[in-house]
Amino acid sequence: MGWKKVIGQKRVKELFKRALAAGQVAHAYLLFGEEGVGKDALALELARALNCERNPTDPCDECPSCRRVETLQHPNIRFVVALPTGKSEKTGDDPVAVLTEDQVAALRHELAGKARDPYYRIVLEKANFIKVNSVRELRREASLTGFLAGKKVFIISDAEMMNTEASNSLLKTLEEPPVDTVLILTTSRKDQLLPTIISRCQLVRCEALTEEEIATALVERDGRMESEARVAAQLSNGSFVAARALVSDDMVRLRSEVVRFLRLALGNSPTSLLSGIEEMLTSTDKTTSERWLRMLQVWFHDAVALRAQKSGTATEQNADLRKFVQRFAGADLLKASAAVEGSIALVGKNVYLPLIFIGLSVDLKKILYAPSPVSLENNETA
Ligand SMILES: [Zn+2]
Repeated sequence: MGWKKVIGQKRVKELFKRALAAGQVAHAYLLFGEEGVGKDALALELARALNCERNPTDPCDECPSCRRVETLQHPNIRFVVALPTGKSEKTGDDPVAVLTEDQVAALRHELAGKARDPYYRIVLEKANFIKVNSVRELRREASLTGFLAGKKVFIISDAEMMNTEASNSLLKTLEEPPVDTVLILTTSRKDQLLPTIISRCQLVRCEALTEEEIATALVERDGRMESEARVAAQLSNGSFVAARALVSDDMVRLRSEVVRFLRLALGNSPTSLLSGIEEMLTSTDKTTSERWLRMLQVWFHDAVALRAQKSGTATEQNADLRKFVQRFAGADLLKASAAVEGSIALVGKNVYLPLIFIGLSVDLKKILYAPSPVSLENNETA
């Protein structure tokens, strides 16, 4: 049955099901929340429910309408994304007809990817914004009488990509909503939308997913191993898309780099530490640094688990971790983890990366070598 394709998001699913059952679906929704938590997936399922021929709250997956949505080829449903600008494209031109053959083929390919898997991230070269012509096309189609039962649904994915002209054009549609039409905007940057657009939509917050939800989905959908799925889930900040990107990354490599950093940070050679950090950061940007620091947090998390003799995350045979736990038997690992959290916050504030890592090394050394048993300030680690 429907909604299964959406990972977690129980609250939002219930909200939509109630609205569907009561026939009180809004003219326009704005689904907002972090990237990769399933906003497009929710939008597509709502579109499917609004058009299912058998079950108005729980799309059946089997009727002709449900199947057409599955391939994103339903005449009632449009998935609007940023597109490249055509050569000498003018306002009023067909937004797709102005593209080159290659661009059209790329667009088809990406939409097919989204249809197969609602967590697929559409990437189109030179697609820098949602064009006003795409919104004009939407307005035109919305004004036509549908030739199929059900509602017309327009999903504007990453709606913050609309340029000013497109936003203003959409605003007109929101001000005079066409009958039997539902607009669903999704965004991870709500603050970049016009306040007038936000105020005309029903706001639906999509929460970060739990580690459990992400890990299960990685195992069941992508056939990942339980152990790697767990670690990726911990590192991904509630985003299924980020977790998926991580498992395809080399997590073992990441972890061994973290071990190397800890050795240097806790060692006695400031020179090796500085050159180590320099080397580490030569090909590292903000995102990689953050991922790296998250992996360090997982390390401390696993160390805590191992110390408590709980089964850690796939690391029980990890000799490095065992040695670490024995050596720092009385150290305040939660405080160490909190120090890493502080560093992650600094990365977010664009602080100079080498400074962050040097500062963190000093802090970790202080925390881990603090005389044990650790004093009452234990309680302040949060
Ligand atoms: Zn159906």
